[in-house]
Amino acid sequence: MNLDFTPEETAFRDEVRAFIEENHPKHLEGMGNREDMSPEDMTAWHKILGKKGWSAPAWPVEYGGTGWTATQRYIWSEENARVGTFMPLPFGVSMVGPVIYTFGSEEQKKQHLPGILSGDVWWCQGYSEPGAGSDLASLKTTAVRDGDHYVINGQKTWTTLAQYADWGFFLCRTDPDAAKPQEGISFILIDMNTPGVEVKPIKLIDGGYEVNETWLTDVRVPVENLVGEENKGWTYAKFLLAHERSGIAGVARSKRGVEKLREIAAKETLGGAPLIEDFDFARKVSQLEIDLDALEITELRTLAGEQAGKGPGPESSILKIKGTEIQQRLTELTLEAVGNYGTPMYGSIADPGSNQYPIGPDYAQHAAATYFNMRKTSIYGGSNEIQRNIISKMILGL
Ligand SMILES: Cc1cc2nc3c(=O)[nH]c(=O)nc-3n(C[C@H](O)[C@H](O)[C@H](O)COP(=O)(O)OP(=O)(O)OC[C@H]3O[C@@H](n4cnc5c(N)ncnc54)[C@H](O)[C@@H]3O)c2cc1C
Repeated sequence: MNLDFTPEETAFRDEVRAFIEENHPKHLEGMGNREDMSPEDMTAWHKILGKKGWSAPAWPVEYGGTGWTATQRYIWSEENARVGTFMPLPFGVSMVGPVIYTFGSEEQKKQHLPGILSGDVWWCQGYSEPGAGSDLASLKTTAVRDGDHYVINGQKTWTTLAQYADWGFFLCRTDPDAAKPQEGISFILIDMNTPGVEVKPIKLIDGGYEVNETWLTDVRVPVENLVGEENKGWTYAKFLLAHERSGIAGVARSKRGVEKLREIAAKETLGGAPLIEDFDFARKVSQLEIDLDALEITELRTLAGEQAGKGPGPESSILKIKGTEIQQRLTELTLEAVGNYGTPMYGSIADPGSNQYPIGPDYAQHAAATYFNMRKTSIYGGSNEIQRNIISKMILGL
């Protein structure tokens, strides 16, 4: 495998690097986490990319993709990670968009794809329920046909950022008598402003607000909002999850994270010497880099497969497991590097009028919050234990 860029690829890298440097929202640089960001901040880069035609590079060109090769998409992620841009949220571009252009009606494509590309329409994902997470097929939310509408009742949970969502894609049971639970599920698009949709915050232990309960009470949804065929929603749901999982790997960001960790460990000291010179700490950082290199090659193989027309399949579970383990180890080592400076909780510093001042260097301020928050990555998108089950069944044939 030749990993050197061709002259054309180097020219492409220079072009996207210049575009990013000139256009990315500078006020968001160094923003530690989503907690500090407004919804406008979270969509700012997406909207700029939408105007440029670069918000969904992986989509087919006919629907608004860029037609970039796998290598060009790799370069694109690398260049964004270099300056730490806040990329388009996954719910529209990486999740429901591909489902709509692959399985949706012409009307659905016309209605929804432009808003996803431009970043003007915010989507959320209504899969999980209080009794249906890993065992998603046991979901209980019902959609009952009433003339030209479905009437939807049930409760979803962990709906990320639904407080800002204009639309949601929901899995609902349309045939309670199906032979297998997977066979009676449909994939339905719901306008979040429809009467009967209620979004209630789940406050996190750090005071953050990123997930919700979503209650659906007699929500009337036109049957045109069904994607594909009734009772075939499980197929579309799995297709979407494969896209979600490969996107979670976050290789380019982790590479930037390791660089930052090395910078921190060069400044922090242990026994009077830079921490990075400590044999044990340096070994842990090196191991992380080796694992990240291996993940990168696996991701490039997957991208090359996609280029050759193979959609992300069960191998996206490998990317999900290794990518999230690396992200978590990165936050563990960062917390270890900053030591006691990582301990204070700075929840209210960003509040106007706060008279608290952070202790220690800037890079320590979010270390603990990020460490705890990133525990989520091995749970969402299907927990890593479930990904191991998928690998054993679908790849190893066990
Ligand atoms: C921060 C965050 C954001 C999320 N955002 C969304 C969202 O926007 N939309 C959405 O629909 N969902 C969302 N989720 C939900 C997520 O997909 C589920 O949490 C996940 O699928 C696990 O389900 P559960 O929480 O019900 O845990 P359970 O399914 O109850 O699992 C509990 C534990 O048991 C293990 N386990 C369960 N079954 C097996 C098995 N068969 N073999 C081995 N181990 C098993 C699991 O790995 C886990 O460790 C989010 C979750 C988090 C944490």
